[in-house]
Amino acid sequence: MKVIVIIPAAGLGTRMAPMPSALDAKTKKPHPSKQFTELAGTPILIHTLRKFAAVDAVKEIWIALRDNEIEAFRERLPREASDIVKKKQVELVVGGEHRQQSVAQALNAITAVPDDVILVHDAVRPLVTAEIINEVIDAAKKYGAAIAGLPAVDTVKQVERTAEGAIVKATIPRAGIVLAQTPQGFHYSVIKKAFDEAAADGFMGTDESSLAERSGHEVAVVMGSARNIKITTPADMELAEFYLQAAPEPAHRR
Ligand code: C5P
Repeated sequence: MKVIVIIPAAGLGTRMAPMPSALDAKTKKPHPSKQFTELAGTPILIHTLRKFAAVDAVKEIWIALRDNEIEAFRERLPREASDIVKKKQVELVVGGEHRQQSVAQALNAITAVPDDVILVHDAVRPLVTAEIINEVIDAAKKYGAAIAGLPAVDTVKQVERTAEGAIVKATIPRAGIVLAQTPQGFHYSVIKKAFDEAAADGFMGTDESSLAERSGHEVAVVMGSARNIKITTPADMELAEFYLQAAPEPAHRR
């Protein structure tokens, strides 16, 4: 049984900067896409890769990148992060138009047996911990499918979008709500079947769990962390920089 990590890193991140191709007002250079934006002087993607490189069980890391970023990254990775390539086998694939297609491209490229564990993790969640990664691996081994998730603390409303904003339609009891994070881990047989079925049906989900669920597989949840944020907007960068310098979070993670 081996553990293979897939990192989808082929997004544009348009909520982060106007358009990655647009010129930055200060540097006059094109905005980097979100995963290459620097956090404390290091690209977000490199922070994320270091987290997985530090986990013993991980054997291979497959990264899906934008077509126009892949060659520069292939050259940059050993130069700027030799520690990662020394520890793990790192492979690059061209991603797709949507996150699901980026993950599918990597899934199609790997060689695995049914019981191998495939972990998928957003490139833009650099604050994941070894503890969460190992817990998702263990639960995926045990149940065949597992995700990191965080119980909702806010009251959750179902709304109908309107031209001016939104109108509340219902209140969903929050005791039954978990906010899905990554990593999400699966036996290779489970994730491959789920992706093949989604492709055949033209289903597009926003995470891997949703594909496994519709494929009829039960998905276990392990405790994620409020710090395991998905960097989406510039404000998230400030929070991420703060967490990066903060003392390690306590074991209970809430
Ligand atoms: O778009 P979102 O912020 O949800 O992206 C989550 C992750 O999926 C990011 O790491 C992003 O780079 C990746 N992604 C991808 N291919 C796409 C779109 C998003 O790999 N076409």
